[in-house]
Parts: sequence; C-alpha cells; structure tokens
Amino acid sequence: MFQYLITNFNDFQLACLGSFFLHESVFFLSGLPFILLERAGWLSKYKIQTKNNTPAAQEKCITRLLLYHFCVNLPLMMASYPVFKLMGMRNTLPLPSWKVISTQVLFYFILEDFVFYWGHRILHTKWLYKHVHSVHHEYATPFGLTSEYAHPAEILFLGFATIVGPIITGPHLITLWLWMIVRVLETVEAHCGYHFPWSLSNFLPLYGGADFHDYHHRLLYTKSGNYSSTFVYMDW
Ligand SMILES: [Zn+2]
Ligand SMILES: [Zn+2]
Repeated sequence: MFQYLITNFNDFQLACLGSFFLHESVFFLSGLPFILLERAGWLSKYKIQTKNNTPAAQEKCITRLLLYHFCVNLPLMMASYPVFKLMGMRNTLPLPSWKVISTQVLFYFILEDFVFYWGHRILHTKWLYKHVHSVHHEYATPFGLTSEYAHPAEILFLGFATIVGPIITGPHLITLWLWMIVRVLETVEAHCGYHFPWSLSNFLPLYGGADFHDYHHRLLYTKSGNYSSTFVYMDW
C-alpha cells in the first residue's frame, strides 16, 4: 500500500495533499454520525446535554469548516512542509517499527496536551476570548464536528500545538498520518456530546473524553476549567 503511494506520488503531494485528504476523510466520517444521532434522537439516553442543535446551526458549522479547511488548513500544511523536510521527515521504506511509531505518537499526545493546556488558558483571558476563542464556544452543546470550528487565529495556534511534536522529531510520514488520525478521532470524541458505556474515558484513567470537554463548553468561560485537550492531570 505504502509502496504504491510512494511510486505514484511525489513527496510534496503525499505530505500536503495526502495529509489533507486523509484529514478530511477521518474528520467528516467520524464527525457526521453524531449529527445524524442528534437529529434522529437515537441513543439519546447517552447524550450529555438535553439541549439539541438546530439543523441550521449544524449546517453553518459544516460550511464554515469547509471554508477554513481549504483556506487555512491546506495553506498551513503547504507552508509547514519545508520545515518538516528540514527536520528530517521521510517517506521511504522500510517503515519504522511499531515501537518507534507508538513511542513518538505517545510523546506527541503528551506534548500537545501540555501546549494546548497553556494556550487554551490564555485564550480564556478576556480580550482573546472575546475576539478569538468565543467562536469555538459558540456551540455550548458540542457535536463531533464542532471540534475544529474555531477562529482562524485559533486554528493556527491549534495547528502549532498539533505539529510541534512531529516537527522536533522529524518522523516518518506514516507516523505523522497515524498521529493525525488518532488526534482527530480523539478531538471529535471529546466534542461528540455523548458519553457511552464504551467510551474510552471509562477505561483509561487519565483520559478526558466527552464528559470532560463537554463540561468546558457548558459553563461560562471564566468558570469552566477543563482546559486540556486529551488528559486530565494538567487540570488537577
Ligand atoms: Zn475554551
Ligand atoms: Zn472545544
């Protein structure tokens, strides 16, 4: 599979367009089912809040996301490509071992969570909240896709928190893709609006999940706490 990709596409195409395509697929495929759940009222006993979003509010989120993905995320991916190359990102065979991949991804999670926590706290100061972060908080009842609904300035900051780990370690492209996939699934889950008996936070003690981040959206911006993206210990 990877052999096929590297023989048919060049480095830039894979790193930028490939990553963009992968991101869009994982993001919308994992996020859209929660819109349907909310509209149909299925599994409502697991819904964290009783309030529902209107179809118009859901559609606004989707159109805005598509606009930002093409006009902010994609150019950002292209602009950061030379930096990734400079730091040693490769897409050659053999692929790195599972041990290397999982250690790097775990490191990215810990680092991202730390950077995100402090950046997010700063976003909750009065001026920045009013002019930047309030966009993300427009949805007090989050649904999966609202995870990436934010002001372009915040997308830049979140983008930085997400890529700082990969940039300093210069990973294999496959590691970068795997990190992107699990990070997207994680943030969509945190915003999904449902806490299921099978939700990961029931089994992983340090993992925040939907319950944890939903609380952050539910409360007034000065009182909410729960600033971390993935783990709960920074907020202790
Ligand atoms: Zn916030
Ligand atoms: Zn959020």
